[in-house]
Amino acid sequence: MAHRLLEAADLSIAVAPAVRSCPLCAGGDHRLFLPITVSRGPAAGSYELRRCTTCGLVFVEPRLADPLLATLYDQDFYFSTGWPYRGFAEWIMREIQRTRRRRVQRYVPSGRLLDIGCGDGRFVRHMAEHGWQATGIDFSAAALTLAQSRDSAARFLYGSLFDHDFEPASVDLVTLWQVLEHIGEPREFLGRCRDLMRPGGVFVAAVPNIEGLSARLTGERWWGLDVPRHLVHYSPRTLCHGLEEAGFTVLKVNHLSLQYDPYALLHSSLDWVFTRRHFLSDLAKQQIAADVSPLECAYNVAALAVLGPVLAPLCVVTSAAASCFGRGGFIEVFARRDGRGPVPKLSH
Ligand SMILES: [Zn+2]
Repeated sequence: MAHRLLEAADLSIAVAPAVRSCPLCAGGDHRLFLPITVSRGPAAGSYELRRCTTCGLVFVEPRLADPLLATLYDQDFYFSTGWPYRGFAEWIMREIQRTRRRRVQRYVPSGRLLDIGCGDGRFVRHMAEHGWQATGIDFSAAALTLAQSRDSAARFLYGSLFDHDFEPASVDLVTLWQVLEHIGEPREFLGRCRDLMRPGGVFVAAVPNIEGLSARLTGERWWGLDVPRHLVHYSPRTLCHGLEEAGFTVLKVNHLSLQYDPYALLHSSLDWVFTRRHFLSDLAKQQIAADVSPLECAYNVAALAVLGPVLAPLCVVTSAAASCFGRGGFIEVFARRDGRGPVPKLSH
């Protein structure tokens, strides 16, 4: 399997050791699921999504080395600085935090929260405002700087879950909003989460669904793939399996995501006609690449003007229908930490 990757870079530095086993079940047999070419940016090159024949997890190969991966999480990854209609966007973001809080409080009404991959800390601050002992953790210094810049009772930590000593069985609620797919060692990670949660505590993860209708319809263009930043790609089955093996009992799988699914489907559909990928999000963030000529830009804007009003409602309806049939483009999984003893050894 040959990969053209980072033409000017030393592959031994750029690429982590080849994945030889499934990061979820440690099975050694996996097959090509989807070839992906990233044509622009520092991670341009050819990648493969591989599917484990044992547990079904899909994961990216080659996986970039952590220092290079870290460079793909710049400030704009977390919080765009160029969004138009900022007031409206802020209102939407507040409503998203409120919706998340209501959903998790159905399972655990109050207590100690750890939000992993907290980004700019909106959810953590929102929960602190509603009486939670809320802590956020993120490996992005830029995100943490913004999170800590606001007055809040929330606490923020820098680094990964393995960089800090948490009191065992002390956390009531662990949340990961579109974060778990960025973690390349889910077995170890879920075990670590379990150890720091109290028995009966609740774990919530929202992830793209590789078996959702949107992924099936748009293939390699699906926005939820985000190669090579997304290291693993879950389905409801693989995520539930991983959680159960790590000592959790799955409570609910929610397939409805009005925040992500319709936009992701629209974005991925328009990429079929745009001259370059991600033109819609680049335009929304007012970050059109410098090498886009006025003529090329005019074509893409015209394509958006013609197709956008037709596709947008179709994407809303399609996403909603898919969620009704358990094929949502994004899922939220709620799981309870079991009360049984040490973390069980995962089966291969
Ligand atoms: Zn596996």
